[in-house]
Amino acid sequence: MRKTLVCVICPNGCHVEAEVQERGGRLEVLEVTGALCKKGERWVRQEVVEPLRTISSSVLVEGGDFPLVSVRTDSPIPLDSIFRVMDEVKRARVRAPVSIGQVIISNPAGTSCNIIATRMVNPA
Ligand code: SF4
Repeated sequence: MRKTLVCVICPNGCHVEAEVQERGGRLEVLEVTGALCKKGERWVRQEVVEPLRTISSSVLVEGGDFPLVSVRTDSPIPLDSIFRVMDEVKRARVRAPVSIGQVIISNPAGTSCNIIATRMVNPA
């Protein structure tokens, strides 16, 4: 089967086609055409077999000069784990002070990423 994707790695937005087959319940990419560079080709192979995403959100802060701290994943996570990760992010609370890069949640929903702070929050 052929899959058509638009590469999102750079503003060129190449229309890329992947020749895909299923073997033993897993998808395999046999050929990629239309990508102008190797980085885009690697993205297409990953996107077809196991799409990954990064998440940005915010977490409630207790005792801080700001009620929320912005957070993000420190590495991409499988697309199908996003809702489970977001459930943990929604339930999380952190006590001020919070520093940039501080790990707020380790390995949410069993993923290999951490949820880290992207801003500082000082004590109130
Ligand atoms: S294939 Fe390469 S050049 Fe084309 S959009 Fe993707 S990253 Fe950009």
